[in-house]
Amino acid sequence: MILISACLLGYNCKYNGGNNFNPDLLKLLKNESFIPICPEQLGGLPTPRIACEIQNATGDDVLLGKGKIYNKNGYDLTSLFVQGAKRTLIEAKKAGVNKAILKSKSPSCGVNQIYDGSFTSKLKNGDGVTTALLKQSGIEVISAEDYIKGEKSNESN
Ligand code: SF4
Repeated sequence: MILISACLLGYNCKYNGGNNFNPDLLKLLKNESFIPICPEQLGGLPTPRIACEIQNATGDDVLLGKGKIYNKNGYDLTSLFVQGAKRTLIEAKKAGVNKAILKSKSPSCGVNQIYDGSFTSKLKNGDGVTTALLKQSGIEVISAEDYIKGEKSNESN
């Protein structure tokens, strides 16, 4: 069972009320079992919502209580992000998830790289909070871009 960031499948759960629908990903999933989840909605954040970024830290730091997530207006929303990550893990365990394909750069779903907290589209190394928690729990997490690249290179070999 694969967990997928819901916005990649066309759910309008993105901060601005839109989505990140990826038709290539959907095509590659045609023979797979998967569940769409939006950790930020699961954590209780509204949609649309003001953009948020992890400040001076990574998702792992946030889980250790050593990092905060603020929205662009300066409100600390860390607890809702952590709640969303924990609820995502509960749902993942219930569904028997062993792999997650998540949306890159997000403070929740980002894999290996996330926005740096300056709200200027700059990136830094690190995972989002949900990605960090899933990885710590033994679930393989890959970004949608890397999954698509890998599947396409398998097809061409
Ligand atoms: Fe997409 Fe994840 Fe952001 Fe939800 S939290 S909108 S699933 S990237």
